[in-house]
Amino acid sequence: MKATVALVGRPNVGKSTLFNRLTRSRDALVADLPGLTRDRHYGIGRVGEKPYLVVDTGGFEPVVDEGILFEMAKQTLQAVDEADAIVFLVDGRNGLTPQDKIIANRLRQTSRPVFLAVNKAEGMNRAIVAAEFYELGLGDPLVISAAHGDGVRDLMDMVLEPFPEAVDEENVKHPKFAVIGRPNVGKSTLVNAVLGEERVIAFDEAGTTRDSIYIDFERENKPYTIIDTAGVRRRGKVNEAIEKFSVIKTIKAIEDANVAVLVLDAQLDISEQDATIAGFALEAGRALVIAVNKWDNLDTERKDNIKREIARKLGFLEFAKFHYISALQGKGVGDLFKSIDEAYSAAMAKLATPKLTRVLEVALERQQPPRAGLIRPKMRYAHQGGMNPPIIVIHGNALGNVPDSYTRYLEHTFRKAFKLQGTPLRVQYKSTE
Ligand code: GDP
Ligand code: GDP
Repeated sequence: MKATVALVGRPNVGKSTLFNRLTRSRDALVADLPGLTRDRHYGIGRVGEKPYLVVDTGGFEPVVDEGILFEMAKQTLQAVDEADAIVFLVDGRNGLTPQDKIIANRLRQTSRPVFLAVNKAEGMNRAIVAAEFYELGLGDPLVISAAHGDGVRDLMDMVLEPFPEAVDEENVKHPKFAVIGRPNVGKSTLVNAVLGEERVIAFDEAGTTRDSIYIDFERENKPYTIIDTAGVRRRGKVNEAIEKFSVIKTIKAIEDANVAVLVLDAQLDISEQDATIAGFALEAGRALVIAVNKWDNLDTERKDNIKREIARKLGFLEFAKFHYISALQGKGVGDLFKSIDEAYSAAMAKLATPKLTRVLEVALERQQPPRAGLIRPKMRYAHQGGMNPPIIVIHGNALGNVPDSYTRYLEHTFRKAFKLQGTPLRVQYKSTE
């Protein structure tokens, strides 16, 4: 399980600069597909050996009312609550401000470890910059420059010190799927419908309420792990308190799964939150199956409506299979598993170089990549650069300017040739000159 690190601080101290440094953007998966909602406040940290989830809380803006009263953005509070560690940024050039003190007081109430980072300190004397921030009572200030990178590695090593190294994901050799979606779409009902019929082998209850529950089970003699973000097994049927929706929990589940099952509510229109969650799965490169739930009791007009909505707002998920199910009545759940299996196999597919190259050659014969000025890109051969999601690396010359439309054409061709239903696919280029 990855650690979550929340970046907190008043505006302008350098949170997003640090965030960008820590998260090194993902390989271009979906060059800004229309309709894809991205949330740039969450990213996977890459500094050091341990991957972790970074949250840029953005807000934390004290609102000065009568006296010094402030209200934290709800998201910020929740992130502080759910994070495993907090990095509190202050501005070494500006010096200590009253706002910093208010935030420090607030952070002292959390049980999470807080690391005080004094930013913008490039070219300055560390001891002098740090001196005035001892007053915050949060221990030794760590002096950094988010913009230049000074001290960032040391900071993150310290923050991540208590957390274990990442385990090798390759160990899981069966579908491990996360049931995700906004509150009330029917995730718990679906998890119950799935597990009601199957032989549950083990589930962990060790985690805190911040964590998803992992349940191993068998279906038709095949092993699966379900990642239950709704926490069915924990809260049980009796005490059905509605859980606060947690972006952090959702992202962690997606990252940890090899297939994501996105549950939508057919009784409601597709919301921004649905698209955001789908975007997280896509960004993570996860295989995806869509369960449009509550398909019982809908008239034809409503069914047509929601299908149109989906086509309009979730068009970027065209690689995924859509299922129209009723978790409540247990209808369509079996078919869902066919797509989970299929998506898993596609995500893990081994693509042999000779066949990849042959498919590439046929694609090139049918349609050449366009010239960039006088130069025509030359594609020579293709090999697999990774799995989950499958990455296809094309080698050749002058491949720096291949247009997105052509890349999508290639993706489509590879997807068809290798029957890669249900997984995103990445086509990358490697030029020798
Ligand atoms: P946020 O509002 O906390 O997310 O702050 P930003 O990351 O947007 O940074 C605010 C301003 O501080 C920007 O103009 C940044 O370029 C600048 N800044 C951020 N980090 C550093 C740093 O390490 N050194 C210096 N000199 N400027 C920085
Ligand atoms: P969660 O918050 O995503 O875990 O959603 P729940 O599983 O708790 O379901 C929310 C509400 O939707 C409950 O009242 C369920 O009974 C109802 N619900 C779930 N699945 C279905 C379904 O397939 N059809 C209908 N009509 N209602 C459903």
